[in-house]
Amino acid sequence: MKNNDNGNLPFVAIGNDELGGPVPDDALIKCKRCGTPHKLEYGTNAAGVETKIVGFVRCGEEAYLVAVDGHLVFSNEVAP
Ligand SMILES: [Zn+2]
Repeated sequence: MKNNDNGNLPFVAIGNDELGGPVPDDALIKCKRCGTPHKLEYGTNAAGVETKIVGFVRCGEEAYLVAVDGHLVFSNEVAP
């Protein structure tokens, strides 16, 4: 992770009451930017091992946070 312009590590705080429903590992997430389904991907820890802590989708050149600890966040939805 890179420091931002202020020299601080960027962070996002999400409380348990902000977590949505559990999301299957192979879920497609309805993209809030382009409206099409994108594959849910997970980040890796410092050892390079995939963890379920942070889930995201890629849309174009960007990656968007959609899941934390296996639960949807920010009102994201699994694609029908
Ligand atoms: Zn998209």
